[in-house]
Amino acid sequence: MLNFKEKIDEKKEEIKTRKSLFSRLRRVIMSDSMAQKLMFYFFLVILIFALIISAAFTSIFNKELIDSSREELEARTVAFSKSLSNYLSTPGVSSVTNFSAYLKVLTDTSTNDVWIIDDTLEIFTAGNNTISYNDLPKSAQTIVTDAFSGKTVTSEGFTSVLKTSSVTVATPIYRGKYVIGVMVMHSPVSGMNKMATNSLKIFLICIIGALLISLIPAVLLSKRFTNPIILKEAEEKLKLEQMRRDYVANISHELKTPVTVLRGSLEALVDGVITEEEDVKEYHQQMLHETVYLQRLVLDLLDLSRLQNTGFEIQHEPVSLTQVLDDAIKSGEKLAQEKNIVINKSYNEPKDAFVGDYGRLRQMFIIILDNAVKFSNENSSVDVIFSSNRIHIRDYGCGIEPERLPYIFERFHKSGGENNKTGSGLGLAIAREIAHRHNIKVSARSAVGEGTEFRFEFNV
Ligand code: ADP
Repeated sequence: MLNFKEKIDEKKEEIKTRKSLFSRLRRVIMSDSMAQKLMFYFFLVILIFALIISAAFTSIFNKELIDSSREELEARTVAFSKSLSNYLSTPGVSSVTNFSAYLKVLTDTSTNDVWIIDDTLEIFTAGNNTISYNDLPKSAQTIVTDAFSGKTVTSEGFTSVLKTSSVTVATPIYRGKYVIGVMVMHSPVSGMNKMATNSLKIFLICIIGALLISLIPAVLLSKRFTNPIILKEAEEKLKLEQMRRDYVANISHELKTPVTVLRGSLEALVDGVITEEEDVKEYHQQMLHETVYLQRLVLDLLDLSRLQNTGFEIQHEPVSLTQVLDDAIKSGEKLAQEKNIVINKSYNEPKDAFVGDYGRLRQMFIIILDNAVKFSNENSSVDVIFSSNRIHIRDYGCGIEPERLPYIFERFHKSGGENNKTGSGLGLAIAREIAHRHNIKVSARSAVGEGTEFRFEFNV
């Protein structure tokens, strides 16, 4: 009755833990921190890309714009001066002494400030302001002199006169073959800068728009990419948690029986309930038996946890596998003799040289041999066959049911029954761990009532 209640309580506890685990997992999925991180990196990459593109665009665009504005200004100045030259070369036009009216038309139509300097170095402008050649800075005078020598020159040397950063083009005005003046056209740089700033503004708006739009695929792709990972991680966590719980439950279960028996026996002895010498002896015998079992369980558990710990190093030294097998058979023979079981060995061109841990390999074969003897009937035999890179240990005992066979290497999987009173269910788990550590593939085949065969395959 008590047992039944205990079981119900245990189940309730299990359901409660499962529920809390699931809710924790749900929270993990909801918070989706991995997807957020991925989105952030995604966005960061696009942002860096956009900034690099913007910086490159701004510098290239500005340079191109200023260059093309200069070229345009130059072309316009040359065209104006040519048309003036043509006019002045027309027969009948004797000379021009006042250019102001002409310049006013030019300035009004071209938005650029235009000057003409005649051969007496008098400066004509569209407005009323009079500028004397001698007031010009040296750099500006050089440009004028260059233009008088027949060259078209571009410079920023008039900035100080105009009191605003400007680009100036100076080009000669001809009358026939002779240079009779210089046309000077100024264009404020601020105009060009304004255009560049406007273009950059439009470009930045486009970039921000593109960034916002690319956020949608970034979110969708990040979710799509991380969802399976998160789910897998969650499943893995759940599995690990379950395994841990099972492990603890198994250990507790294994410890419960011997501890209960020991306590019950001791209480009976201490209370003086058992007084007959024969009974007392039997109780002591039982207690010794349980203590031996407990000790074996604890040692096996320690062994297994050591082997499962990747930090635990096993030896790597040259060993002879036939020697290891001989040694294990010698140890197994003690138990075999009690049941009159013969261990036959057959070594057929064995690949004997191996690198590993002698003690651990011996332990692995002893576990298999002990099981073979333990689960065999009296007066039968066990075969140990070693050929090439394979070792088979075969018995003709009770065999293993097909539904249990896939689980025999799991911790605490064991059969009850008369021939396995002291089994901890850890032997094969330890053997498998030793095999893994040596890159040995271990497998089992069995048929109920016919026997079992364990096979070890290794690389040489
Ligand atoms: P145990 O301490 O119970 O022997 P093992 O891990 O060594 O634990 O074995 C696990 C279980 O596998 C055994 O309880 C038994 O049911 C089965 N088993 C292992 N070897 C054999 C065999 N040679 N013949 C039949 N059953 C076997």
